[in-house]
Amino acid sequence: MTYSENIARLQPSATIAVSTLAKKLAAEGRDIVNLSAGEPDFRTPAGIAEAGVTGIRRGRTRYTPSAGLPELRAAAAAYMTRGTSYPAEAARVVVSAGAKQSLFNACFCLFGPGDEVLIGSPYWTSYPEMVTLARAEPVPVAGSESRGFNLTPDDLEAVATPRTRGLILSTPSNPTGAVYSKAELGAIAGWAGSRGVTLISDEIYQEIYYGEGDRAPGALDLDPDSVGDLVVANGMSKAFAMTGWRVGFSYTTRELAAKMSALQSHVSLNAATPSQVAALEGLTRGEEGAADLARMQAAFRRRRDLVTRLFDELLPDCFYVRPEGAFYLYFRVDHLFDGEVTCAGDLCTRILEEAGVAIVPGEAFGDPRFARMSTASSDEDIEEGVRRMAGVLGG
Ligand code: PMP
Ligand code: GLU
Repeated sequence: MTYSENIARLQPSATIAVSTLAKKLAAEGRDIVNLSAGEPDFRTPAGIAEAGVTGIRRGRTRYTPSAGLPELRAAAAAYMTRGTSYPAEAARVVVSAGAKQSLFNACFCLFGPGDEVLIGSPYWTSYPEMVTLARAEPVPVAGSESRGFNLTPDDLEAVATPRTRGLILSTPSNPTGAVYSKAELGAIAGWAGSRGVTLISDEIYQEIYYGEGDRAPGALDLDPDSVGDLVVANGMSKAFAMTGWRVGFSYTTRELAAKMSALQSHVSLNAATPSQVAALEGLTRGEEGAADLARMQAAFRRRRDLVTRLFDELLPDCFYVRPEGAFYLYFRVDHLFDGEVTCAGDLCTRILEEAGVAIVPGEAFGDPRFARMSTASSDEDIEEGVRRMAGVLGG
């Protein structure tokens, strides 16, 4: 069989690949601590799950409009624009099967052959693939390590060309946990606007935040007049512990939203209807929802504190970016390379084989000097995982 040029460079998701391997080894009876994929270990809050089940029982099992249930689009618009100057317009929102599909839709609608798309590096593993699937060219660009790799307009100006059409970043970042301040984000968005570059801001971890306030600053917190074209992605997977329900959403112009909806109408049509019903409950639960979120936020913060304390104690030579959000620890491992272990991929294989700990090599995020562990696991697993790693890596 011959394959299309469309997938000539396609690789499976490395984060999903490592976690699938870890689950397989565990099913075979190996004692595995799985700190690979970033997936909250909490169950979906009962009220949300119940709404989904009730929806199924009541026949909410048919197609919805491609862009999602109107009431869910409205709720997502209100959720994403709360406290901002952007309008809470349902027509600007498209509901998709996860923020992953939202981001893909945006890339596919915005970019094409000959276009270059800047990607804040280290990056979430799927961004370059999405850009490549649109037949555009991903251009990773890293800020300085001392700023947690956050970008500045100077970093972007140094690599931009007349073909630059887009800029993709995540804040809070997967994999680093770094967060852009409102001023930093404003500078980046201003630069993008002035260059006619569309900013795609992935804010799926916005509520997994350890700084001041109840959520990390986002692109919609900026003054709309100072920002150019914008797509913001968010969703239910992380802050609502709903990874498997597959509901994400995007906020952008009405025109682009209509195009993304048209694309989706031919690809998957709509996020699963019962999942949309559950998501609507999740976004409109008021105090009960706030209490569930606060409980999960407190656990993620405690684990962030735990993992950084364990690293300081047991792996003091491993530089790490102190996470201000999300649920990962991104740490340097290149001082551990030797004749046999020459990249993070080799090292992570060794850690899996010798310590039974699954973490993701930095190659997946554009930097083979680093590795990423998820802290969306129990405190016990985090402690056991770091202790085992330190046993193999020798502190
Ligand atoms: N963006 C980032 C940065 C992520 O880590 C993830 C995790 N899967 C996603 C988007 C997509 O999430 P989902 O498709 O589950 O909404
Ligand atoms: N986003 C999570 C991660 O980076 C889940 C896996 C994925 O969708 O890539 O581990």
